[in-house]
Amino acid sequence: MRSQFPHRLYSQRLFCRRCQKVTEHGIFAREAYSTFGGMDPHIPLLCSCDACGTIFVAFSNEFVFCNREFVNTDYAKIYGYNRIVAGNWIYFKGSPKPGVVKSIFQSPDKQIIVVNYDGGPDQRIERPKIDIEYEESPEGYRLLPIQSAQTLLGDCIYHAIRDQFGIAVGLVNDGEKDKLVVLLKDKTLVFITLPPLSQNLPNDKLCSIVQNKLAQVFPEHCTRVSVEAGQGIVYLNGLVKNLSIQRAIVKCVNAIPKVRGCVDFTRVETSSFTTDAVIEKTVYEQIESSVTRLFDYKVNVSDGKVQIEASCYENERPKDLENRVAEIPGVRDLICLVSEIYEPINVELCKKVESEISASTFLRGANIRVSCNNRRFLLEGSVQSILQKELAFATVLKNVKTTSIENRLRIV
Ligand SMILES: [Zn+2]
Repeated sequence: MRSQFPHRLYSQRLFCRRCQKVTEHGIFAREAYSTFGGMDPHIPLLCSCDACGTIFVAFSNEFVFCNREFVNTDYAKIYGYNRIVAGNWIYFKGSPKPGVVKSIFQSPDKQIIVVNYDGGPDQRIERPKIDIEYEESPEGYRLLPIQSAQTLLGDCIYHAIRDQFGIAVGLVNDGEKDKLVVLLKDKTLVFITLPPLSQNLPNDKLCSIVQNKLAQVFPEHCTRVSVEAGQGIVYLNGLVKNLSIQRAIVKCVNAIPKVRGCVDFTRVETSSFTTDAVIEKTVYEQIESSVTRLFDYKVNVSDGKVQIEASCYENERPKDLENRVAEIPGVRDLICLVSEIYEPINVELCKKVESEISASTFLRGANIRVSCNNRRFLLEGSVQSILQKELAFATVLKNVKTTSIENRLRIV
């Protein structure tokens, strides 16, 4: 499996079940993602112990570097260790639970914090003033054991019963229960059994739930896709008709309750007809079809992987382009970047030239688009001969009164 995840994104100290201790792990992905600025959820990551090579799979949304909007962000500020403002969750060591700070003010020697617990009457809590010069975790801490189900790998934690700070280093199954592993400051490893609702389903049960769902949603495609499960993770294998179906299946599996995530090893079926050149031609047809209004486009097809960069006018982003390209036989992967141009220039002039071109009998059969971006005119689309290509260029030249024209017309 390691070879399927070639890109090392990150290193993190995690619990290795073989070494039975916390070791440096490489976090590998199938694509070269960056963890800087947050990662999208549901991306499978392979964690490999640097010491012994033992691997396990976890998902981007189970790590502290996941984009904040996709994970639970309830962190409690611990009084005496964090700076506190209204709206924070706050926890006072020794108290039974955290509350929400309604307001906070201070006298020269005291801090007065108004806290609400579970919607009851506000409580006024007075404590000696503590100046916090350094916050180890400015965001706060996961409070354990109560927040064990929300804790992300790499989260700073405070274990209320043991009165110890630490860090979350793993999710393991001891043969019976799924557990969160935390490494405390005093070097103790603690295994906290996750609450019943967060326990993973038995593998065979999860497998049959997923198989039934796929049979229901993708009756024509599911027979060629095999499903395996392990610790809440679904592994798909087999053949799929196209990238669009492949993406839809993964999305469907990820949406099934109790699925931690999906590792998709299915392959898009190919034939000897689906060469890169054929794919490229079909991609151009989709881009240049009349329903979409794209210009300044570049297409790259390599080994079935399609990259499209294009521009469009404001609010004219073609919604279904990505889907239509993903349905092209043989497309295995797709990156589609369309940027909107907010202040286009010479729009009317370009339209005028386009209509002059389409009215010309010499340019019959051509499909030509004229645009202007960064003060440069662009001729895009297809023609049938060199003569048509030059004629189209001459038509633009005559109208725009500048020589800053790029002729990207393809002869097909
Ligand atoms: Zn190890």
